[in-house]
Amino acid sequence: MNITSRLHETALELGEKPAYHFMGQTSTYAELDAAVSKFASGLVQLGIRKGDHIALLLGNSPHFVISLYGALRLGATVIPVNPIYTADEIGYILHNGDVKAVVGLDLMVPLAEKMYEKLPNIAHYIICESGQPEVDQDGSNLSLRSKMKSFTSVLASGEASFKGPELDKDDTAVILYTSGTTGKPKGAMLTHGNLYSNAIDVSDYLRIAKEDRVITTLPMFHVFCLTVALNAPLMNGGTLLIVPRFSPGEIFQIARDFQATVFAGVPTMYNFLLQYPEGRAEDLQSLRLCISGGASMPVALLENFERKFNVRVSEGYGLSEASPVTCFNPLDRPRKAGSIGMSIVNVKNKVVNELGEEVPADQVGELIVKGPNVMKGYYKMPEETAAAIKNGWLYTGDLARVDEEGYFYIVDRKKDLVLVGGYNVYPREVEEVLYSHEDIVEVAVVGVPDPNFGEAVRAFVVSKKPELREEELIEFCKEHLAKYKVPSSIDFLEELPKNTTGKILRRSLKDQLLQTK
Ligand code: AMP
Repeated sequence: MNITSRLHETALELGEKPAYHFMGQTSTYAELDAAVSKFASGLVQLGIRKGDHIALLLGNSPHFVISLYGALRLGATVIPVNPIYTADEIGYILHNGDVKAVVGLDLMVPLAEKMYEKLPNIAHYIICESGQPEVDQDGSNLSLRSKMKSFTSVLASGEASFKGPELDKDDTAVILYTSGTTGKPKGAMLTHGNLYSNAIDVSDYLRIAKEDRVITTLPMFHVFCLTVALNAPLMNGGTLLIVPRFSPGEIFQIARDFQATVFAGVPTMYNFLLQYPEGRAEDLQSLRLCISGGASMPVALLENFERKFNVRVSEGYGLSEASPVTCFNPLDRPRKAGSIGMSIVNVKNKVVNELGEEVPADQVGELIVKGPNVMKGYYKMPEETAAAIKNGWLYTGDLARVDEEGYFYIVDRKKDLVLVGGYNVYPREVEEVLYSHEDIVEVAVVGVPDPNFGEAVRAFVVSKKPELREEELIEFCKEHLAKYKVPSSIDFLEELPKNTTGKILRRSLKDQLLQTK
């Protein structure tokens, strides 16, 4: 069983049930499954074969879902790429990923023209209509034009009865490029077995069922969305409420109009929803569960959100290399604010010291993970793979601790640890304190070089109150933190830099600061 054959099974069982709603359109499972088969067979007619690599340069849309499941159905490997990357970033991934065909919006034609000469091996550009009339779908480059087909024509040329080859659980299903800590992005190869097992295990743990209507607003090209808000609901006959771009107003409206039952987001989304002046608890009353992941959820934010909207927020943890989920706060036990919860079924999590030995409860070490969700390796990078997976355990690069009851806590990224005069400062601990200040909307804490102490703690904040002063905040920190953890200075910003998944980019704040010195 794999996610695309499971979709077919679901369509046989629940054919007339809506698989998704998207901007006024609805597709039943039978329609979605037929489109997936047609697209797969249309690709076969273009010469795409099992094992070929297809990149998706798409935002959240039915095009994404059909292309993903369609390409997988014929045994191709899918490389979802953030469509707002620059031509250089995309070019690197398409080249490194040995991509043979690209599915993208018509908006990407100018970008394809830029990259065209450098990527001669790309045989097909499949262009999806964005509905924006100013885009010239044909492009100006004639040889590029000869490689372009419209999504609609590929779909129309295919057969709804297409079955596709047998797929092995160890076949690579997707390659996800993750930024990693250094150098160029690495392509984490996730197999059909990885994707299927994690979506099943998450569904069991969070009881995702056919009655669920899940708000799919996280970017589909990111693994958090892929497993939690796309594969898991589709696997169980649930309905996706596809939101092309996150905006608080739209989330409240969709939740109300479609009586959504599950929302999945990163902490910054929760912050936007909480700060939204027209946000009303009534609009979210159908939600049975809010899922947070991707970055640490500040305790103050979680508690304020739960209080205001009267809905439970369950934090989990994962990473691309683990398909991604390894831990979640359980539904049948208390959720612990600040914790990523317990190991989900079938996945082992362990906290170890530098020698790889398990440390006692409450001691900080590196989180390592084992299970059917752990990637096969990084594409064409055996050394990086060997450094990441040792004896079957994936080294996450995250520092964590586990309590006596088996709840895990992410302390911070190993690489973000700040060393002040030999003392460890975890930026997250300082951020938690600043988040608990009533005037603070967002915070990022980084370490910067310091002539006396090696490093110093520096905070960046977004404040609701223009007259809030740095000294006042430093005093506030002094009340809650040991002296060496208190920021030496605090910068006030209009907003903090974030990636498209919504994660705050501490690194880019630090780089900006170092450049201006
Ligand atoms: P990605 O591969 O893009 O999904 O990023 C994975 C990284 O996100 C992890 O290694 C963690 O550093 C971070 N992360 C994910 N979930 C959490 C969480 N709940 N708390 C803290 N960090 C998290």
